[in-house]
Amino acid sequence: MERRTLLKALALAGFARQASAAPPANMKGVEELQKNWKTFLPAGTTVPSPTEPVKLSKDEWRKRLPAESFHVMREEGTERAGSSPLNDEKRPGIFACAGCGLPLFTSAMKFDSGTGWPSFFTVIPGAFETKKDHYLIYPRTEYHCARCGGHHGHLFDDGPQPTGLRYCNNGVALKFIPKDAKT
Ligand SMILES: [Zn+2]
Repeated sequence: MERRTLLKALALAGFARQASAAPPANMKGVEELQKNWKTFLPAGTTVPSPTEPVKLSKDEWRKRLPAESFHVMREEGTERAGSSPLNDEKRPGIFACAGCGLPLFTSAMKFDSGTGWPSFFTVIPGAFETKKDHYLIYPRTEYHCARCGGHHGHLFDDGPQPTGLRYCNNGVALKFIPKDAKT
């Protein structure tokens, strides 16, 4: 088999995803990732919890957030595909809410979906609330930060096994905290 053909076959089989974080083999592994998310924080970092709500007026959010983040998070906008530098972020660390700093995902929950948006196959427990929206003809599951209510993206069921989930997240709604600040 030619190298190119082999690479293509491997990509089709889903092996290309292993170039970044390979999802765990089973749900027990996913539960471990969820349980151990704090190990992805830099030493000595304190982070807020979902039980400390942040409630601001729309005008206050407009002042606090960059324009693109405000549009996505407070007006349920969607950033242009491929525009986020976080698509290529592969360092160990935490993806937190750009609005309130709540930790949402670890780097080990991220995978290369090829969609042009940062994508994750699971989430830190309690980070999000969901609702159905009907902006397109079919209903979609919208999800937003449990602490500040900021819109982050949509949840799809075409992610990698074992969860089968794809959290399709706007990069401007995220703030990456590298585990090692020096890298
Ligand atoms: Zn938030």
